[in-house]
This record gives sequence, structure tokens and C-alpha cells, in this order.
Amino acid sequence: MKPQKYEFQTEVARLLHLVTHSLYSNREIFLRELISNASDACERLRFEALEKPELYGGQPDLRIRISLDKDKKTISIADTGIGMSAADAIENLGTIAHSGTRAFMQQLESGKTADAQMIGQFGVGFYSGFIVAEKIEVFSRRAGLAAEEGVHWTSDGSGEFEVEPATLPERGTTVTLHVRDDALEFADGWRLRELIARYSDHIALPIEMEEEKWEEGEEGKPGKMVKTGKWEAVNQATALWTRAKKDITEEQASQFYQQLAHDWQPPLTWSLHRVEGSTEYTQLLYIPSHAPLDLWERERKEGLKLYVRRVFIMDDAEQLLPRYLRFVKGVVDSADLPLNVSREILQESRDVRAIREGNTRRVLAMLEDMAKEKPAEHTEKEEKPEEKTPDYHTFWREFGAVIKEGIGEDGANRERIARLLRYTSTAGDFVSLADYKARMKEGQKAIYYICADSQEAAAGSPQLEAFRKKGIEVLLMGDRVDEWAMNWLREFDGTPLQSVARGAADLDELQDEAEKKAFDAASEQAKPLIEKLKTALGDAVSDVRATARLVDSPACLVVKDTDLSLQMARILRQAGQTLPEVKPILEINPAHALIQKMEASPEHFDDMAHILLDQALLAEGLMPRDAAAYLRRVNALLA
Ligand code: ADP
Ligand code: MG
Repeated sequence: MKPQKYEFQTEVARLLHLVTHSLYSNREIFLRELISNASDACERLRFEALEKPELYGGQPDLRIRISLDKDKKTISIADTGIGMSAADAIENLGTIAHSGTRAFMQQLESGKTADAQMIGQFGVGFYSGFIVAEKIEVFSRRAGLAAEEGVHWTSDGSGEFEVEPATLPERGTTVTLHVRDDALEFADGWRLRELIARYSDHIALPIEMEEEKWEEGEEGKPGKMVKTGKWEAVNQATALWTRAKKDITEEQASQFYQQLAHDWQPPLTWSLHRVEGSTEYTQLLYIPSHAPLDLWERERKEGLKLYVRRVFIMDDAEQLLPRYLRFVKGVVDSADLPLNVSREILQESRDVRAIREGNTRRVLAMLEDMAKEKPAEHTEKEEKPEEKTPDYHTFWREFGAVIKEGIGEDGANRERIARLLRYTSTAGDFVSLADYKARMKEGQKAIYYICADSQEAAAGSPQLEAFRKKGIEVLLMGDRVDEWAMNWLREFDGTPLQSVARGAADLDELQDEAEKKAFDAASEQAKPLIEKLKTALGDAVSDVRATARLVDSPACLVVKDTDLSLQMARILRQAGQTLPEVKPILEINPAHALIQKMEASPEHFDDMAHILLDQALLAEGLMPRDAAAYLRRVNALLA
């Protein structure tokens, strides 16, 4: 039969062009990616064979062999895993299923980071073979199919690939790379061994290479390396998490992570523990050093890799961690779960619940350690440049907004999570609630905060003016999740948390006698004006009153203690929820020149009243109720 020609999916063709033209650094990762695929294929066979042992076809050995032909300039990676049928090969080696691929390609095309390390992250590892190969051949036979039902797949990495039937005596897959002349450094036994030791030592299966021996030359002739025909394992071939922690180097732990998480950067920190008791399991947990591009996508896969007594069961077991820790990567190996455990069983299992709780406690402890030991970005790094510094700043920048979800989601650990929170405030960056509490003013009874659409908007809010003037610190919250989270966090360590945009923030307590007097006098004087404002604004506000919280602004909006904030109401409306209208309270600064002027110009009073309200909305980062009317009024006044 003639080979059948196929075109690569457009994305693949584009990717291959990039791979062959722009990835020059870290080219060696192709080997790690292909070994990782071989290892996945073996694990998948082991899993499927739990139900159908006949898939082994009498050859239970699972292994990976790497071989080299210097004359032909080829490197082959052969596994005895699940293999592929012809249809599988066309599908798996011609298309890309992953959602992140487009983002990846944009990064590559923009030329900023032409680092091959990134390729594995996007589930396109197979194509990395073309970094070093001018042609790739794949011979594969799906476990359970007959010898003649093998497939031979070939491509030179341009737009097309070819597929033809092949008779293969063994199940599994062999990927043969025809190495390009500029990559011949990799067609070398020692180089390959070194790369395997570096990148793939943790692979739980034996990775074998043919033993080589030095043969002395005949008299006067040079000696050379010859193959002995014996295969030897070149990695440790034990699952990393089964080793004692002290026997694992940082480098090994990191490589394992990078493969597991498809991350090209080392993790911030990791932890390995065997948990004993009524539920027994091993947890190997990693905290990444940067957020993945799709952290906020709903369909994103997340969770830990689940093994049961060393047998791979599933990727992305999201039941093993709460959602607010979805950035954590790692492996759980359970001694108790049944091998045929399904996602449905995971949801109901008590063992799984115990594992999830154990993992949660462990991750919180890792974060606490990081926050305690190496809180800051500077100093130590410079003194000891060789030391990797786990960095709570980095962690917080990347994942702080996710952790905040835990305040609402995980009541049992709320206190612990609250201690991990960091904010920018009017007094500094990276402020913990404990820091804030420790420097509260004499007589201050609450931890003050303000939520807005962004930190900048929070910082610019008129509500802060009196607090600024008094030197009272206010936490500036600008993440979408903040306001929701703060609904759950009513106090910290016995001190209430209070939004400055709610109710009549108890400013009296913060005023001295003279200030109180001045304010009372001004409010008294403003009474008739307030009545007029109420009439002019009618239904648009629920109340008008004088406030001491403003210094430079004429007015601001607040909501009742029990109402949704204006920003929150807007977010929920944008998300399609129907809500009762929230009517704000307009607070005015009786001492402000503009307010005093209003009294003096009755002919413009109505326009000015509406402008005052609309400007207060603008100050909250919201739109005037009717932009055209607002402009008309302002222009009339200006004219
Ligand atoms: P990923 O490994 O993230 O799925 P790859 O580009 O590395 O992405 O591989 C694409 C797909 O090709 C795999 O998901 C798998 O279905 C198939 N594949 C690759 N290598 C092998 C192999 N050695 N044995 C069986 N299937 C393989
Ligand atoms: Mg892969």
C-alpha cells in the first residue's frame, strides 16, 4: 500500500515552523519530552491492563530504550507502552488539543522568549523532536492489536506527514529522530546519558541504553567504544516520591516538577511527606513560581496526579485539593484507595476527604514557612547568589488573588489564611493584617480597608481623605475577589475589619474636640442645603448627609452597612444577575468651597446637585447615570 499523505492542522504547521526556526536555547529538552511521552504511554498501558491484563500479550515488561546510530545519524526512543493505532497516530501527531497553544505561539512569534524549555508546558512536546531532527519516523502498534496493524508515521516537519501500515513484532512506540547536522552533538552516548540523568532520572521506569565498552586498538591503531549488546538502566527508575527526602536533590525535585507541571521554571518550594494514620498516603507537593496563563479559565484542568500503590491512576484529580489551592502541583500516592477508583468515587470517598484536608494543611504550612523564613525579595539573594530564595513576594504576586478565595471557601482554615494575606495600604506595600494591627493608632478600633476596581482606584478614592489626614492606615483592595472575601472576614485576631466606604465609619472617635466642634457647626449650617439636595436629587439617592470623612472632595457615595457596594453590584450585573437597585447615600463635605458656593447660586442649584452626584460616581470609578445629561450640565456651567 502506498503511504497516505496528510496535512498538519494549521496550528501544528505554524508551531513546527516556529520550532524549527526559533528555538535555539535549551534544545536538549526534546529528549525529556519524548521520554516523558514514552513514560506516559507505559503508565497508560499499566492502567488499562488493570481491567484487561491480556493487553500485555505475555510481555509484561514496561521500559524505555534509547539507541543511537552514528552512521545513520539517528536517535531512537522506544517504549513498550500502550502504542498507537494508525487512527491514533493521525489524530495525536497531527493536531494539538491544548487550549494554551495559541498563547504559546504568540509568545514565540513575538520573539521575546525563544526558549525551548517552554514547549512542554503547552502539551506539544512531541513536536519538540523537530528542534533537532530534519525528519521523524514513528513506528507504533497499539497494545491488543495484531502485528500487521502497526503504523509507520513520517514527517520532515514542514506542512505534511505520511502514514502507512507496518508490521511490528512488539507493541509500543519507537520514535526515530534523523538528527540535523547542526544538532549532531546530541547523537552521542555520553551526552544522552548526561541528559537523562539531568532531566529524566525520576522517571519510574527503567530507561535503558546499550552498554558500551572501550576497545583497545590493534597495535598502533586508536581504540574505540563498541556496543556490547547488553542493555543497562541509566536512571534510578524509582518513583521520586518513594525515595527518602534526604536522597533527593533540589535538581531532581525540580526536574520532576518541571515535567509534571509542564513548567520551564523551577518551583518556589516543595514538600514530600508520608502521611500515616487511618488514611495512608504520600504527598509530594509543589508551589510554582509563576501562574499559568490559564489560571482564571473555567475549563482549566487542575489538581494533583493520583497514584494508588505506585500505579498511575489519573492526572488532574481536582478532588485532592480545595479550589483555592488550584495552583499547587504534585503527586498523591494512596495506600488505601481501590485501583479502579473513578472520579465519581473520588468525590464521595472519606479517604479522599482526609487526603484533601491533609494536603490543605500541608500547603498552608508551606506558605507559612515561606512567609516567615524568607519574606522579602532582597538581601540574602545578593549575599549568597548560589542559594535559591523561596520568595513569598513572588508567590503573592502570582497567586495571592487565588488564595483570597479560601477566606470564603474554607471556613475551617480562615484564620490561617487570613495570616497569609498581604495588601498594599496607604502606609506601605506587602502589609499583613498582623503588621497593620501592630501599628494601629491609639484609640483605633478597627482595621480599615477600601475595595475598588483596582488598587489605583482604591488609592484615589475620596473616602480616604480624612484617614490620610489623620495618618490612619487603610488597606487598598483592588482585586475582584476582595470584596467578596471581606464579607467572610469580619475580624482578625479580635479586631473588626471595617470598610471605609460603608455606613458612617466611626470617624468621631478619630476626631479631637476642636475638629468635632467645627464639624458640628458646619453640619448644622448645612442642614437647609441638605434638605434642598434631597429634593433636587429625589429618588437617585437614599439619603444625603454631612460627613467628616472628606477633606479635599466636595462629596462621596457610601452604602448602608447591609447593602452591596456599588462596584460589587456592577460586577454582578455584568455577570448577568438581576439585582434590586442599590441606592447610595450622598455624603457632602460641608466645609468644601463648592458646597458653600451652591448656596450662593440658587439659579444653578439643580444642575450643580446632579453634577455633584455624578462626580461622586466618577470618583468611585463608575459612570454618571446619564453621561449626555452630565456633559450638558457641566458645559452649561462652564459657559
Ligand atoms: P502531551 O504529551 O502533552 O499529550 P505531546 O505532543 O507530547 O503532548 O504528545 C501528543 C500525543 O501523542 C500524546 O498525548 C499521545 O496521545 C501521543 N503520543 C506521543 N508519544 C507517544 C508514545 N510514545 N506512545 C503513545 N502515544 C504517544
Ligand atoms: Mg508529552
